[in-house]
Amino acid sequence: MFDKILIANRGEIALRIQRCCREMGIKTVAVYSSADRDLKHVLLADEAVCIGPPAAANSYLNMAAIIAAAEVTDADAIHPGYGFMSENADFAESVEKSGFVFIGPKSETIRLMGGKTAAKAEMIAAGVPCVPGSDGVLPEDEQQCLQIAECVGYPILIKAVSGGGGRGMHVVSESDRLIEAIGLARTEAAAAFKDSSVFMEKYLEKPRHIEFQILADAHGNVVHLGERDCSMQRRNQKVVEECPAPGISEEQRQRIGSLCVEACKRIGYRGAGTMEFLYEDGRFYFIEMNTRVQVEHPVTEMVTDVDLVREQIRVAAGEALLLRQEDIVMRGHAVECRINAEDPFRFIPSAGEITKYHAPGGPGIRVDSHVYAGYRVPPYYDSMIGKLIAHGPMRSSALARMRTALSEMFVDGIRTNIPLQRKIMEDPVFINAEHHIHHLGEQIVRWNDSLSL
Ligand code: ADP
Repeated sequence: MFDKILIANRGEIALRIQRCCREMGIKTVAVYSSADRDLKHVLLADEAVCIGPPAAANSYLNMAAIIAAAEVTDADAIHPGYGFMSENADFAESVEKSGFVFIGPKSETIRLMGGKTAAKAEMIAAGVPCVPGSDGVLPEDEQQCLQIAECVGYPILIKAVSGGGGRGMHVVSESDRLIEAIGLARTEAAAAFKDSSVFMEKYLEKPRHIEFQILADAHGNVVHLGERDCSMQRRNQKVVEECPAPGISEEQRQRIGSLCVEACKRIGYRGAGTMEFLYEDGRFYFIEMNTRVQVEHPVTEMVTDVDLVREQIRVAAGEALLLRQEDIVMRGHAVECRINAEDPFRFIPSAGEITKYHAPGGPGIRVDSHVYAGYRVPPYYDSMIGKLIAHGPMRSSALARMRTALSEMFVDGIRTNIPLQRKIMEDPVFINAEHHIHHLGEQIVRWNDSLSL
């Protein structure tokens, strides 16, 4: 097992990884930007190294600085968390070449699955159902693009091959707008992802987002830990997640889960991974794979009682998975609310000092957050300041516990989306699990209209 792990991330996930390392008797190195000296995990780390100024491009995305920090502190492995360098194949490769272990899949697997068209091709070959669309990257020729769109059928969605974070997607409902939308998507993709290639998918109008959690070791053992439903989204960003997905039968879970396991065996996957699907009219359609730990991993942990970060570290150290598929049992239901430092209905980020802070508690409640009273939320990074997770024997009891927890939670000094999360937990469409990925966006418009009356 590793003696020392460098955590190449910040905020709640850095603290989550650090807690796990401590439980396992592994020392930690925190790396931080000059805006993040007061982060909880930085204060608690065995060693901490400042890797640059506030701008992420010069600190959390600075490969050389992170690897140099691992060298000076003599760390064995680097955990990238999510976001930042977690799906950067070049970073994973540099980490490996510098003699450290990257806690994640091999760099070539990250590279393969990072290209959405290559990932889809692998999945099709493994028998996983995918969203119908173009056969790979769209050609330059306009007539050919128009023909492909005719075959796929409108409405269609233009997506960036190297896309992420829900950015750079364009819906096109008629052929007149196709060429213009492809041009826009290419320009955006080039600016955001340094890769202008785009592809086309059938735009599903009312799907749910359902994703499967995978764990794989370096010895060819792969298991799935069931699925999560992340259909409560705003602008393609998840707001609430739950495990299991309401209404999914054990037969569907095992059927799709087994396909995911087979696909991972095919590509020689190692570590924790998530296979994302859209689900409409009883059918699953693969959209992409995330080759890292997800923000929403705790809901799976609560239901399966498996520590996903611990398993990530164990398999990165070369240990075999101790879990077999039959050991994975889903007990009860868990829901997660992302807590963001932002205006709850206008979504303007709200940085500044948290003057008062009370975290909720009680049976089945888990709070993954790095904030505390007196902590200053810097304006430079993602607005998420924590996650509130509630577990109960049934979906209704998990939601009841979440409502109680949200009513107790108190953050003063900055604005948060807690009022929005309270409204979501009272939303009849969500309570009845009748929502699709566009529901929350539409509901927010209605709530804003009623607020301004
Ligand atoms: P990213 O990597 O940018 O997050 P994804 O492919 O995961 O992109 O898609 C993000 C979100 O966009 C999905 O969760 C879903 O809400 C929506 N989406 C993606 N593909 C489609 C599609 N074919 N039809 C409808 N919505 C889609």
